[in-house]
Amino acid sequence: MEVQSTFPRRLTKQLMVGDVPVGGGSPISVQSMTITKTADHEATLQQIYDLALAGADIVRCTCNEPEAAEGLARIVPRSPVPIVADIHHQYRMALAALEAGVDCLRLNPGNIRKPEHIKTVASEARDRGVPIRVGVNGGSLHPELYEKYGNVVTPEAMVESALNEIGYFAEVGFDLIKISVKASSVPLMIDAYRQLAEVTEYPLHLGVTEAGPLPGGVIKSTAGIATLLAEGIGDTIRYSLTADPVEEAKAGRYLLESLGLRERKNVDLIACPSCGRAEIDVVAVAEEAMSAFAEREIPLQVAVMGCVVNGPGEARDADLGIAAGNKRGHLFIKGRNALVVPEDEMVDTLVEWADFIMEHGTEAALERVDVKKAEREAARDRDRLLEEQGEDANDSVSRIEMIKRHVEN
Ligand code: SF4
Repeated sequence: MEVQSTFPRRLTKQLMVGDVPVGGGSPISVQSMTITKTADHEATLQQIYDLALAGADIVRCTCNEPEAAEGLARIVPRSPVPIVADIHHQYRMALAALEAGVDCLRLNPGNIRKPEHIKTVASEARDRGVPIRVGVNGGSLHPELYEKYGNVVTPEAMVESALNEIGYFAEVGFDLIKISVKASSVPLMIDAYRQLAEVTEYPLHLGVTEAGPLPGGVIKSTAGIATLLAEGIGDTIRYSLTADPVEEAKAGRYLLESLGLRERKNVDLIACPSCGRAEIDVVAVAEEAMSAFAEREIPLQVAVMGCVVNGPGEARDADLGIAAGNKRGHLFIKGRNALVVPEDEMVDTLVEWADFIMEHGTEAALERVDVKKAEREAARDRDRLLEEQGEDANDSVSRIEMIKRHVEN
């Protein structure tokens, strides 16, 4: 499926995290972070593979102790995606991670504060051609800046923290930089990124930090990240969820696909919200369809609709869909009725025809079916349902009558 975004992208400098370009108009990448002990390199690699399968382009691992750096030395050569080492407090861990061969470092300016330490790390990264993310975090802002701005975290303080760090990097001639100014407050992070985008051309890594468990965490992160992406701000993204990190990678991928900023890899399942007309349990059938398509690489829009009265019309733009009616499933392809199957075969039919369309195309699929016959069948079931349920299956008209009576009395 073609990428369809029309959002203008802010032009940034480009750098490479391993073989993944970041910034400079390159595709927006999805990042996630392992939650295993990095020292346990086999468990960490397993999680990295899971994340890559779910859509992560870049994965970060903590490097908090010498054993973690040793783990990285084993992980990096076998990883399917570039690895970023996350560094807090101990600048020596950054040097150890570079020795382990990582593709990028993340430094938190709030807790690696000594200029000579920052410059030592930047010099080493410069010599090795390894980029650094300046990862400002509202919750661990440099204490001096926190005080300077009245003991509150402000967007200005976060931006100043990032610029100070870049200043140290400049002193040693290092400019392979990307920046994040994350906060757990969505309005705060939006403001901070907007201000940062005004004053720098370095690529930006977007995220809402400590967004929390599902589903609130996904909603918070989406609110922040999507708002900025729609303004053209952002070159790489991470959802920080209190959940299996695979959910982070999936969420990132879905967001970019939804915004037309990333080529769709898997199915885009749409489903009606169900209502009084529904002939099936739409939620259950949609979930069944979701797991049937799971991670199959079928980049089609597929619809599950609760009734044949309105379903095929409402989902006429989908590549294919199925609508329930009279204990049968009415398959439609690009809005054209195609086939009628028993209700319990609806999901299998969707998968079978999605496979066929992927291999042979929509035209070939429509040639294989009797459209006229399917239309007649659909019309018959539609009429039968209308006869049974009437035009007002959701009782709206009778309710409106009741409301009028209450209001008039
Ligand atoms: S009218 Fe039919 S397709 Fe539309 S929401 Fe109701 S059940 Fe679903």
